[in-house]
Amino acid sequence: MVILHTHGHDTGSGEWRPFGCVEDLDIDFTTKDRPALVTMLLASCGSPREPEFWWSQAVAVRIVALLRLLASTESIDHLRLLARCRQPECMERFEFELPIAALSDSVPQGDTVQVRLKDELSIVLRRPNGRDLSEWRNLRPPSRRAAIEAMLGSLVVEGHASHEDELALAEALSAQDPLVAFTVSCICPACGATNEVRVDLEDIVLDKLRRKQRALVREVHRLASHYGWTEAEVLAIPPHRRTHYLTMIESER
Ligand SMILES: [Zn+2]
Repeated sequence: MVILHTHGHDTGSGEWRPFGCVEDLDIDFTTKDRPALVTMLLASCGSPREPEFWWSQAVAVRIVALLRLLASTESIDHLRLLARCRQPECMERFEFELPIAALSDSVPQGDTVQVRLKDELSIVLRRPNGRDLSEWRNLRPPSRRAAIEAMLGSLVVEGHASHEDELALAEALSAQDPLVAFTVSCICPACGATNEVRVDLEDIVLDKLRRKQRALVREVHRLASHYGWTEAEVLAIPPHRRTHYLTMIESER
């Protein structure tokens, strides 16, 4: 089992069950409502099993919780990722690894962020949570500017942000929340250049779980059509034993 450190942030205390129960086949990964998808996954596999709890968690805490779910599902402690060198004369593809425990340590402390603007004014913002993401999504802002305005409108808890400060505030907020706009410096193994690689952690975990769901459906199909078991019966068999059955079916072909 992978133990992740979260600096006292509550990413659920109990066990994370691996993604792969029969009810997980119902989760719709094609939805465009990403905040709702993340909440549903966390509430069905995490602890506590309460959507309201996960809606109220900071965005970075939700990302760490997703990473925990993936770690438990795939028994991994590193994310293995691919990048391409951005030097035009190189373009080498290379692999790099991110330790999940270290990512979990990047959850910022405190619920608020203080930003000092150039004219010595300071503004206090609270960190966005899942509910904020959902509300901003429903607003469907017509431009990036309108999106930032709506975002700051709900996050500023102290001080007043003028229009000119909005961009700087949005940048300060994301700079202090490294998991939300996560980038990692990678040295290209071919040419030695440093590449700043943008990593959408949430997207990576969702993609891996989506693939997992598809693989489960294939397993159910193979075993159900061979032995006549139901979905629930197939998925109640521990994965290592399912693999044995699948190997036996393959060897009979
Ligand atoms: Zn290179």
